[in-house]
Amino acid sequence: MIDQEKIKEAVKLLLEGIGEDTGREGLLETPDRIARMYGEIFSGMEEDAGEHLSKVFTVENNEMVLEKDIVFYSMCEHHMMPFYGKAHVAYIPDGRVVGLSKLARTVEVYARRLQIQERMTGQIADAIMKELSPQGVMVVLEAEHMCMTMRGVKKPGSSTLSMAARGIFDKNTDLQNRFWQMLRLSP
Ligand code: ZN
Repeated sequence: MIDQEKIKEAVKLLLEGIGEDTGREGLLETPDRIARMYGEIFSGMEEDAGEHLSKVFTVENNEMVLEKDIVFYSMCEHHMMPFYGKAHVAYIPDGRVVGLSKLARTVEVYARRLQIQERMTGQIADAIMKELSPQGVMVVLEAEHMCMTMRGVKKPGSSTLSMAARGIFDKNTDLQNRFWQMLRLSP
């Protein structure tokens, strides 16, 4: 449960810690603003991906479904700085599919938490495996991490790729190649 009062107190301390005057005009409402904003960007803590993935439809053909370029914003748990980019989610059904928007909702549930990219990638794949029981799932995330580009090594524009393969995608290079081909739209 998100405790907005605690967040407000913490932001005040943070401002004092960096030597700011918490009483100056521009900062008066900052603790309150951040508390409300955190309520939104960490709302995934209180959500269950299963809710979004429970409505399924029966299908006859079990061809690969790929939802690509799902834009997401998350927060790295090591620095509490944003990382953001695109998720590509594919699965091979076993008689059941979900609405395409539900894949994007699933990405959002796991993005709106303190995260590391590798774990988020696996959580999306595992949730789809658990709720939809497909033959296999493959998830790829490409993201820019502000903790990399704004400080430290400072490499703007560099992106981090992570991948999770489950079910029949696991260790199956041919199927994984088909995924990459579909992603690039080359035959
Ligand atoms: Zn970080």
